Amino acid sequence: MVDDPVTNEATDNYEALIEFLYRAPIGLAEITAAGGIEMLNPKGAQLLMPLARNADLGNLFAVLDTVAPQLRQIALDYNRPAGVVCESLRIDLGSVACRGDIDVLSISLLKLDDGRMMAVLADATLEAAREQQKLSRRLNDAALTDTLTQMPNRAAVREQLQRLIDQRPADGRTDSAVLFLNCDRFKQINDALGHATGDEVLGMMAERLRATLRPGDRIGKRPGLQQMAARIGSDEFVVILDGLRRLDDLLAVARRVLDVLSAPYATELHLVCCSVSIGLVMTGQGSAEADVVLQDASIAMVEAKRAGGARFMVFDAGMRERAASRSDMETELRRAIAEAELFVVYQPVVGLTGSGDIDRCAGVEALVRWQHPQRGVVPPLEFVAIAEDCGLISALGDFVLETACRDFMRWHATLGDRTPRSLAVNLSRAQLAHPGWLQRMQEILQDTGMPPRCLQLEITESLAAQDEKIQQHLHALKALGLKLALDDFGTGYSSLACLHLLPVDTVKIDRSFVCQADTSLHHKVLIDATVRVAHSLGMSTVAEGIETAEQLAVVRALGCDKGQGYLFSRPLGTDALMRWLGEDA
Ligand code: C2E
Ligand code: MG
Ligand code: MG
Repeated sequence: MVDDPVTNEATDNYEALIEFLYRAPIGLAEITAAGGIEMLNPKGAQLLMPLARNADLGNLFAVLDTVAPQLRQIALDYNRPAGVVCESLRIDLGSVACRGDIDVLSISLLKLDDGRMMAVLADATLEAAREQQKLSRRLNDAALTDTLTQMPNRAAVREQLQRLIDQRPADGRTDSAVLFLNCDRFKQINDALGHATGDEVLGMMAERLRATLRPGDRIGKRPGLQQMAARIGSDEFVVILDGLRRLDDLLAVARRVLDVLSAPYATELHLVCCSVSIGLVMTGQGSAEADVVLQDASIAMVEAKRAGGARFMVFDAGMRERAASRSDMETELRRAIAEAELFVVYQPVVGLTGSGDIDRCAGVEALVRWQHPQRGVVPPLEFVAIAEDCGLISALGDFVLETACRDFMRWHATLGDRTPRSLAVNLSRAQLAHPGWLQRMQEILQDTGMPPRCLQLEITESLAAQDEKIQQHLHALKALGLKLALDDFGTGYSSLACLHLLPVDTVKIDRSFVCQADTSLHHKVLIDATVRVAHSLGMSTVAEGIETAEQLAVVRALGCDKGQGYLFSRPLGTDALMRWLGEDA
């Protein structure tokens, strides 16, 4: 055999390299595509041994299975012939009992060819700790701290969130998420109990949040800043979580936060109840901009609030569109009120006398409309809820009440005894929450000269059954001498059993019952029961939404006192109403 000096030299160099790497102070392993360990240097063995079950270092993926189960799949998914499979992937050893001094392991994988990979392992504990220190120093910075709660503030949230987004692990196995919390009806606490109590509640909330997220939590034990609770607005908190593997983990945290925060707060002077609404977003689904992620989370929070509060909602892209169209609507509605695009129409309410005639002058209901410059006439169902949400409901409600009372008094002057005997105006719950509403009501009655006994305010049953405060408000309205009606009866929460709790004079049976009065026995029986209970309590009844003679016949036979619906008339402008009242029944 001929001695080949070139081959010999190459072999020597290769062996020297292997020898050099073997003694290097980082862990090195040569593995097969399936993770089988072919070569492992002493440092590598030292790093992996605490993780190996039964001291078995035969397969890298098996050794790391409990702490980095994703690794096997990452390697499998890598489909290029050679190259970097993952680089400095951090593995938290927080949950490993006998891990020695190592908290964080870092691993890189290089694919050499179809059958072989090189793994580089290093102890990243110090590096992670240094990052953590730097972060907490930064977080203690006054410019990033909220003074009331000593929590990080909005600027800190933006900074940290952006960092997490920028350093998102390339493997996409874990994600970070934002919980955006807003207290339900916090303004009421401030208004009713004072700002000192409000501040106390916020401080206690911050404390509970901190306690809930304290390490001990699976997520809390990870290296680096894995979770952060911050106060970013008066009654607004944000929690950032990192290292989440599944949406379910996020939902579990949200559920716990919701639970913990909804327990009553024992402040110095009061026991305060305050629930929160939470919007959730996983950053991986969304934008690369921290501000946009926060905005998405806050949009989901608003949806949670709109659904009744005390719950969480996960962001989806459709919410962004709905929020945008709502905010367009809001701007336009503001303009509409300022530029008098709202107007009021009146739907007759007729008396159903025993003789079979109808009494055209029993009453009218005022219904608001919006003459939109592009969209034409917009129905109230599309904008009343928005007005309630954005604080415009008082202006809207005052406008309708004042317009209707003025119109009523004008009819009185021209029609004499053919004037409708009652004017019904819808009242929203949000109007009652507005300070000064009672005084405003008195002013309108006085300014217009409207006799209170002819005015009937309509409230929805869900509103009325809600709480004692509302009941007080209703009694205050009754004390002014006006009448109250329970609108849309049968659709909300209250039932016949609590009808006696409400100081109402009239029950309006919802259209959804009336429209089936002649075809469904079930609906007929419910109308019958409602009429009987209402009458036994001295209340009168109105059947809403009568569209056919058959429906009319049924509700009349069941003893309803009044009726309203397209069969008699659609809502009309003042002139058309005047003509309708003048016609014979
Ligand atoms: P509501 O108080 O129950 O008013 C009755 C609604 O039923 C009106 O719809 C009326 O046009 C409709 N309606 C009456 N008869 C019939 C019928 O035979 N068939 C059918 N299909 N519908 C009938 P509108 O005007 O669209 O109002 C909807 C709701 O918006 C009202 O329900 C009320 O809750 C609210 N709303 C209207 N105006 C105001 C307002 O000024 N302030 C407040 N807070 N809410 C208002
Ligand atoms: Mg009504
Ligand atoms: Mg109704």
